[in-house]
Amino acid sequence: MMTFLDSVIIKRRMAFTYHICVGEIMTDFKKYRCTACGHIYDEAQGDSDSGIPAGTRWEDIPADWSCPICGAPKSEFKLID
Ligand SMILES: [Zn+2]
Repeated sequence: MMTFLDSVIIKRRMAFTYHICVGEIMTDFKKYRCTACGHIYDEAQGDSDSGIPAGTRWEDIPADWSCPICGAPKSEFKLID
């Protein structure tokens, strides 16, 4: 049998889980570093010089995109942990 306290705890857990999910969506942007020049592409920032809007995921960047600093191809970028 569920007591009133149990229901409060369950509701709080659901709220906590929801909060974590929202937090991940907001902070899940990754960064990639150009191995040739050290330039960093930040998904949260995008690359305005190349017309890449802020929030653009790495996989959504055109394959022919290149480093705005040194021109290295997308394949020269490595994910930063
Ligand atoms: Zn570069």
